[in-house]
Amino acid sequence: MAKATPASVLAMFGVLLRNGTANWDTRDALATVTAVVDVAVKMGAQAGKTAIDAFRTGFNTYGQFLEIRKMVNYPYFNENTQKWETATDGGLTVNSHLIYITRLAQPSGDNGYRSDALAFTIARNNIVHELGHAFASSNPGVGNSIPGSLISDYGWPAKIDGGYYLWRQHPCTWDKICKSSEVYADMFLGWVYNTWGTDFPGPKRMEYMTTDMTSYWSTR
Ligand SMILES: [Zn+2]
Repeated sequence: MAKATPASVLAMFGVLLRNGTANWDTRDALATVTAVVDVAVKMGAQAGKTAIDAFRTGFNTYGQFLEIRKMVNYPYFNENTQKWETATDGGLTVNSHLIYITRLAQPSGDNGYRSDALAFTIARNNIVHELGHAFASSNPGVGNSIPGSLISDYGWPAKIDGGYYLWRQHPCTWDKICKSSEVYADMFLGWVYNTWGTDFPGPKRMEYMTTDMTSYWSTR
């Protein structure tokens, strides 16, 4: 049997890691494998399918790869400054089958000490958040009816020192108005790991995602 590599594992799910203007390193590739497998296992359990079948169904990767491309940076429109700027960390879901990933969270972090394990978890969660965007893009209607009471920076797990973006990858404060698409991507992340804030509306977030995913998978 051929040796398993991140690329060979991801290929089973219809996911392609591609070098763009940057190259994948082993840690980031493993964070991506972990993210994809965790999403697939959760979806499989919800759907009553194998993890691979659930992922390929949910992300529509039976006929087309979902490409995750490593980039040094990418251009994006900053709504606060109203200018095109260059992002050098995090990711961008370009469409249902293309995600850009730049620099993922590193040990030591921006505010001092951050362990290897915490950095890996933030990186993994970053990928899962992008997969949440790709899942919504692949399935028109998903994430379109989030109640207004959930479009906020409340009801997420508490900040972890040096890991602010652990469970709230894209806070409302980054944009002019809070984006429901970003709330959805972070609730997708919460759903995959069953991790929610205990303050309001944390329990409502869990309820929304449980209902939404049950309904989604009941028809597939
Ligand atoms: Zn996002």
